[in-house]
Amino acid sequence: MGKRPVIPGIGSSKALEIRAHHLLCMQGFQGYGYSRDFQRNLEEVINHLESNPYSSLKLVADADIICQKCPHLEDGCCDRYSSPAIRDMDLKVIEKLDLEVGAIEPVQKLLSQVKEWNIHDLRDVCGECSWKDKCLLYRSKLEMDY
Ligand code: SF4
Ligand code: SF4
Repeated sequence: MGKRPVIPGIGSSKALEIRAHHLLCMQGFQGYGYSRDFQRNLEEVINHLESNPYSSLKLVADADIICQKCPHLEDGCCDRYSSPAIRDMDLKVIEKLDLEVGAIEPVQKLLSQVKEWNIHDLRDVCGECSWKDKCLLYRSKLEMDY
């Protein structure tokens, strides 16, 4: 018998809900995070998506399975960034992808599209994020700009 999925939603036939700006964060992750639980959970989500590139994601602008293990999730809302700011990050990603909230698209397509963005796109989306120094995606785009 295979390993039981730990994260709710993973392994079901429904599209996994991901808050849109996490498409970027997942590609910048190099092991840092808000807590050990958060890191483990994020690693598991990333591994799952890498193993299932043709599965579908539903883009949302609210708490997702990554937020579920974050110490900053309070009553279903993010307490680290202001509600308009964090939602704005998701909405900007969705707008740049020319999609709408709730759109369902293949994992591989979404990840490869945002990977093509340049530092100006990232600056626009990432706003006040405090992980820019540790984010591989942000740093790589910054270096490409020099
Ligand atoms: S800089 Fe922050 S918001 Fe932007 S991709 Fe990296 S971790 Fe995500
Ligand atoms: S900081 Fe906020 S948006 Fe980011 S993972 Fe935690 S709860 Fe979710």
